[in-house]
Amino acid sequence: MEYKTIIGLEIHVQLKTQSKMFCGCNNKAEEAKPNTLVCPVCLGLPGVLPVANRQAIEWTLKTGLALNSKIAEKSKFDRKHYFYPDLPKNYQISQFDLPFCTGGYLEIRNKKEEIRKINLTRIHLEEDAGKLIHTENATLVDLNRAGTPLMEIVTNPEISSPQEAKIFMQELRTILRFLSVSDANMESGHLRCDANISVAEIRNEKWEIGIPVEIKNMNSFKMVERALAYEEKRQRQLLEKGEKIVKETRGWNDGKGETYSQRSKEYAQDYRYFPEPDIPPFETVEFNLAKIKEEMPELPAEKRKRYIDDLGLAPQDAAVLTLDKQMAEYFEEVATKVSPKLAANWVINELPNHKPHLSGEGGQIKSGNLIELLQLIEKGEISGKIAKNVLAEMVTNGKNASEIIKEKGLGQVSNESEIIKIIDEVSKENQKSVEDFKKGKKEALGFLVGQVMKKTQGKANPQIVNKLLNERIK
Ligand SMILES: [Zn+2]
Repeated sequence: MEYKTIIGLEIHVQLKTQSKMFCGCNNKAEEAKPNTLVCPVCLGLPGVLPVANRQAIEWTLKTGLALNSKIAEKSKFDRKHYFYPDLPKNYQISQFDLPFCTGGYLEIRNKKEEIRKINLTRIHLEEDAGKLIHTENATLVDLNRAGTPLMEIVTNPEISSPQEAKIFMQELRTILRFLSVSDANMESGHLRCDANISVAEIRNEKWEIGIPVEIKNMNSFKMVERALAYEEKRQRQLLEKGEKIVKETRGWNDGKGETYSQRSKEYAQDYRYFPEPDIPPFETVEFNLAKIKEEMPELPAEKRKRYIDDLGLAPQDAAVLTLDKQMAEYFEEVATKVSPKLAANWVINELPNHKPHLSGEGGQIKSGNLIELLQLIEKGEISGKIAKNVLAEMVTNGKNASEIIKEKGLGQVSNESEIIKIIDEVSKENQKSVEDFKKGKKEALGFLVGQVMKKTQGKANPQIVNKLLNERIK
C-alpha cells in the first residue's frame, strides 16, 4: 500500500514580557518560590478585572508580521471553559473566532534540500495555566505560571514527515529568538508542541485522509521527531492489518520510546466559548503596526540569503551562523573588517573551543580582539596555527593579540639573515634531501621548508623560507 503522512502542529510559546497577561504580577515564574507571583486576578478571585498586556499583543502582531500572517482589523478575547485544578478561574481567557493573526507561512529547508512552504492557520494569544506537581502522597499546585502570556501558533495539516516537523520547530525557535519575544527553550517549556498526525492511503485512486491522532507532551526537538515517527509507524501497521485508527489523544513515553492512549476523542469537548465581558474588543489600529514593522530585525532566512549572495559564504556556514542571533551579530561585526570567509571559519570552528566566547564576563573574546588577530593573519604576520595559540591565550588573560605576540615572541620571522642561519643548519642535517632537491625532486623542497618551520616553531615566514632555500641550494 502507498501511504502519505500528514502532520499539523499546535505550538504554544511563552512570551517573556515583564508582567503577566492580565495582571501586573512578575512573569518570571521559573526563578520564584511556588505561589509567590500571584494576585487576586491570576488567582481567579471574584470581583477582579483583567487588563490586557499591551506588550504581549504587540509581540503577537510582530510574530504574525514575521510569519507573513494577515493582521486582523478587529480582535477580541473569549472565555474557554474547562475544569482543571491548575486553572483557578475554571475558564481560560483565549481567542476563539477573531484571533490577532490569520494565515501566514514559514519556509523550511528539509533534509532533501527542498524548500517547503508550511502554511499557518492562525496565531492567537491566551493565558497559560498553573503547574501541577505530583508527589508520592499528593498533587501540589503552583500558580506562578497561571496568567503567563501564551501565544498559540497553529499550522495547516501539511507537514509531510516527522523530520520536517522537527525542522519546522527549530526554524520557528530561531525566529522567536531573533524577534526577542520568547526564550523559546523547549526543555524549559517556553516552547511546547502538540501534533496531529494521520496517515492517508490511496482508495479508489484517490488519497483518503485517515483519522488524526493527537500527541501531547513533547518537550524537545528530538522527542517531536521520535514520537511522530513512532506514531507514523504504528498507524501504518494498523492500516496494513486492516484495523481502524481510533481518534484519541496519546502521550509520549520517552523512556519506552512509544506513545500511549490518554483519552478518546470520540466526542468533541464543548468549551462553551463566549466573548470575555471584562475586556472590550480591539481595533488593531490601536497598536502601532508601522512602528512594529520598522523595528523588525533582519530575520534568519534574510540573513542566510545575504551571507550567501553578498558575502560569498557556503550555505552550510550561513545556516550555522544564523542559528543564534548573538552569533550572527558577532560574525557581522568581524566580517566588516576582515574577509567574511575567514571570519566565518573562525567564528564557527575556533571560537566554540573556548566557551563562553560571545558574551558574559570571564573568558570573553571581544569582537575587536578577534578582528585584530585575523588581520594579523591576513597581513601574513602570523600563521593560522600560531593564531590559534594566541586565541587560547586571549581567553585566559583577556589581553589583545599584539600584546600576546610581543610577550611570547610569536611574531613571524621575516629577517632574512636569521632565516639563512637556520636554513644552513637544516641543510647540514639533511644532506640527502638537499641532494634530492638538486636533482630536481620537488618533494624534497617541501620537506626542507617543513624542517625550517619546525625549528622556528612555525614563526618563519613560509614565502621567504621558500625563496631563500631555492637561492641557497641552487
Ligand atoms: Zn497576578
